[in-house]
Amino acid sequence: MISDECGIGLLDKSSIPVIPSSIISDSFEDFEYWYNTRGESGVVVLQGMAAKLLPFCDNHMSIGQIQSLGIWTPEEKVVLPQLVWSLAKIQMIELPKVSKLLAADRQEKHRKKFTVWIQLTDQCNLRCPYCYIDKSPHRIESSLVKQSIEKILREIEEDGYTDLVIKYAGGEPTLCWDIINEVIDWTSSLQDCSVKIRHVLLTNGYSLSEDMLHAIGERKMSVSISLDGIGAVHDRQRATIGGDGSFLEIHKNISSLIELGVKPYILTTVTRNNQDQLQELAQYCTERGLGFRLSLYRGTGENRQNFEGDHEKLASDLVDFYEWFGNHLPEKNLHTNHRFCDVNLLRPKATNCGIGKSSVAIDTSGKLAICQYQMDRTIGDIRNDGVLDSLNRQNFYNPSKDNAKFVPECKSCQWLYTCANGCPLHLRSIRGTFTSVSSYCSVYSAVLPALIRTHAKQIVNHCNKEGR
Ligand code: SF4
Ligand code: SF4
Repeated sequence: MISDECGIGLLDKSSIPVIPSSIISDSFEDFEYWYNTRGESGVVVLQGMAAKLLPFCDNHMSIGQIQSLGIWTPEEKVVLPQLVWSLAKIQMIELPKVSKLLAADRQEKHRKKFTVWIQLTDQCNLRCPYCYIDKSPHRIESSLVKQSIEKILREIEEDGYTDLVIKYAGGEPTLCWDIINEVIDWTSSLQDCSVKIRHVLLTNGYSLSEDMLHAIGERKMSVSISLDGIGAVHDRQRATIGGDGSFLEIHKNISSLIELGVKPYILTTVTRNNQDQLQELAQYCTERGLGFRLSLYRGTGENRQNFEGDHEKLASDLVDFYEWFGNHLPEKNLHTNHRFCDVNLLRPKATNCGIGKSSVAIDTSGKLAICQYQMDRTIGDIRNDGVLDSLNRQNFYNPSKDNAKFVPECKSCQWLYTCANGCPLHLRSIRGTFTSVSSYCSVYSAVLPALIRTHAKQIVNHCNKEGR
């Protein structure tokens, strides 16, 4: 690992700093902000010396030459190398040698995460009109869940993974609460495994009994709850079997979880029915300290026209939302508390998710699939097949070929490593191929600048509060 001090020692004053071509910059009020679409530092707001230095990092002047310009005070001259080093570290400038060393250093620090989606049941207590699950009484056996986890842990540990995220999903997973309980207790007794396990309950939040609430609270489990809006806006998209609204019950359960010290993460599907009412939802979350994610509707077929509206209107509603959100930001870090689709400003990527490589879905009978949206395309059986081997052998989706780098429109797009062409399975179901441009392209390219600006506003808010 390179420490700051020895890093500065590596700086050669004859080195010529250059601004990477992947930098996108903009400003609001008096603040200039930068975002390196290939970097891992997110949005950076530049002021003072940094703003003064960067125009000279144009691949013509060495550090020494910049230092000898008459624009610096004596104190600034002394700290200039430190500033150059800091900017190289956050990937706002590149320096020969140093950038390579820093990249290797970052690589070393990365944790390697594998995700398993376990479909505990195909049953559900809601009837959301956009749901893609064929409801049936099927339910997984707890012994099969344990066998699956044991096998995955063994395989991924050998393959150098450091983290396993277990998503308990369905249908509605809380209908199999006995299994979740048993499995979590069992995993806590596992020994001799270096992989860190994180349990995530993906629930509609409608029927959380006292027992469940307390168990979640005691275990401080990660819980994600689907909430598509406030009151009637949510109810339109997420009704009970009897056709009633589910909001009030879910709101009650969210409140109980908060009282027990658990902050559920809110998952929202953005459709034509709620796209212009996201402010209320964000306000609800912010007031309660809850993180939330906005996902674009990914359905296909006849239902599509009921949920997916005009993309120009969708883009404009979302841009308006982020403009508003930038002025009503939560205290908490946006990187951990808000997501737009799978965009992660700290992790550039050409494939949208771990599909085909670092994630797998298991159905109620133990069949393996590359994603929960493709359960009918089996790639193996957890009882007989290796998980990583099944992922490697399947030839439906190849992450190293079927990614945004091979899509002509994305290849030349500034958002390639931020947007990564969206959900590959949605893309294929709409376009029939993985190497075409996402139908949501116009929405991504309109929303991403607004999202980045929102991040910049949070940095400024934070600095103002700290008096910096
Ligand atoms: S989908 Fe559109 S915005 Fe996204 S990377 Fe491709 S061309 Fe760029
Ligand atoms: S393919 Fe689409 S639905 Fe599946 S994990 Fe990736 S983004 Fe999610």
